[in-house]
Amino acid sequence: MRMWLVDPRVMCSQHLLGEHVELHMLVGSLNRDKNISGFLRDGLVELRSIRRRHAELVAEMQRRGFVHKSPLPSFGRRRAGQVDVAANLKELARRCVDCRMLIRTSRRTVIGGKTKLL
Ligand SMILES: [Zn+2]
Ligand SMILES: [Zn+2]
Repeated sequence: MRMWLVDPRVMCSQHLLGEHVELHMLVGSLNRDKNISGFLRDGLVELRSIRRRHAELVAEMQRRGFVHKSPLPSFGRRRAGQVDVAANLKELARRCVDCRMLIRTSRRTVIGGKTKLL
């Protein structure tokens, strides 16, 4: 499970949908009291950002025409975990050619002074 926490607009649909599914898994793990200390330690998840992130991802999914039928279940409020968004942006660009293209395009847009994405 990994929360990329980068701007959803620079994620390919595979990574966008993947992070969304993993958010639901994360909430499931919290509600079943599974041990997620490794994810917290490795900076993969940020519990205080789950709800906001789910809303962001769903908004982008809907913009791309995906149907979302899975409201996030309620879960205990916890704040643990810290994700390095800048490092994740680099990692996503390194491992996925589609995300890399979107990230590059967004940077061009920023240089053009139109929309600031990141
Ligand atoms: Zn959902
Ligand atoms: Zn990708």
